[in-house]
Amino acid sequence: MSENIKKLAVLTSGGDSPGMNAAIRAVVRTCAYHNIECVGVYRGYEGLIEGDFEPLTARSVKGIINKGGTFLKSARSKTFRTKEGREKAYQNLKKENIEGLVVIGGDGSFTGALVFNTEFNFPVMGIPGTIDNDIYGTTHTLGFDTALNTVVDAIDKIRDTASSHNRLFFVEVMGRDVGHIALNAGIAGGAEEILIPEEDLGLDRLVESLNRSKTTGKTSSIVIVAEGDKIGKNIFELKDYVDQNMEGYDVRVSVLGHMQRGGAPSCFDRVLASRMGVKAVESILEGETNYMVGLMHGKMQLTPLEKAIKGKTKINLELLRVSDIMST
Ligand code: ATP
Repeated sequence: MSENIKKLAVLTSGGDSPGMNAAIRAVVRTCAYHNIECVGVYRGYEGLIEGDFEPLTARSVKGIINKGGTFLKSARSKTFRTKEGREKAYQNLKKENIEGLVVIGGDGSFTGALVFNTEFNFPVMGIPGTIDNDIYGTTHTLGFDTALNTVVDAIDKIRDTASSHNRLFFVEVMGRDVGHIALNAGIAGGAEEILIPEEDLGLDRLVESLNRSKTTGKTSSIVIVAEGDKIGKNIFELKDYVDQNMEGYDVRVSVLGHMQRGGAPSCFDRVLASRMGVKAVESILEGETNYMVGLMHGKMQLTPLEKAIKGKTKINLELLRVSDIMST
């Protein structure tokens, strides 16, 4: 480990996700373990610009591993997109003798971190925190597993009503550009159809498939729709289309919304956050910079931030096939 670094900072940026608190805790405790000071930055890059810092010790982060959201708060900062804003942030870090920054957030936050590093040669390390699982270089982002459990729980409850009333439910889940939540939670919740941004099922095929399910004895159906599904219709337009083109079902819509981002992190996310926090701090101490920590093949791995930002995650084709077979 490097003898040189004596003080690091950590912040959370962009949308919050379950497991961020657990990751902050891991960063702070790894610093304490290596006798390094750790500073928490409130409200992401906004707090960096305003100098909203607080020294954190191992005891400051007690009792938060099980809490959703982020106690450091998160923000989207317009000022950090300007050179003047970033200059202020840099001066604040210098004033406090902070020598490295751990950024917990999504690809936008990583873009900001990379720009900052390029301008000031300031060491940065990313931890992927977003429920969408849309970041290249990790099979799981922080919060994805918890969000899946939340969505599956909601589908199970909706199913009770659907089957009691012969209803067809369209359930909208998060995922503007990627269908990881829809596909995984859809399979786990026994959905009849799953509409994702990566695949265009087509409206006629959707109706055909729902009719087929009905003729084979299904009395209720659940269709999971990712926000950005490829058919391009919003969930209420989908409902109207099916209402007009299918008989015998009472069609309803449920938009799960922000409840998917909240709640206590799952065991998986707590362990992942702890591993990522340790890896992030120790990598900086080993002189690595401009990387994101991720989980690949069961191990912690570093991916250059640039690759993590530009790389595209792919939908698992095997899962798509499983979903098709399960809707038989
Ligand atoms: P989520 O996945 O929840 O959207 P995110 O990290 O992608 O999280 P963004 O709002 O895209 O969220 O980015 C967070 C912050 O990162 C922005 O508010 C901004 O301060 C900073 N940022 C993003 N892009 C840039 C950029 N090109 N230059 C400087 N800062 C940036």
